[in-house]
Amino acid sequence: MAVARKSDLMHYDPTYPNTFECVCGREAKLTKKDVSTRFKGETITIKNVPSYECSFGHIKTARVTRVRIKSLLKEAYNDKLKEIDYK
Ligand SMILES: [Zn+2]
Repeated sequence: MAVARKSDLMHYDPTYPNTFECVCGREAKLTKKDVSTRFKGETITIKNVPSYECSFGHIKTARVTRVRIKSLLKEAYNDKLKEIDYK
């Protein structure tokens, strides 16, 4: 029996559309990128970050993705990891 759980609405469970209209009007396609960021003096790479890239090379990440990246950076930093998979 399927039970609708209200708590699901409180979770970030982003589903990514395959394409997205870029700021330039072109179609940006979903791709996975490794993102290297400096965090508290350490360079940490987050692997397979869902991003959108248009044919002109504009790259956009969803706001929920950026929020997630921040918490992954903290997690990696605390565990002394140089890289972490996006999840
Ligand atoms: Zn663009």
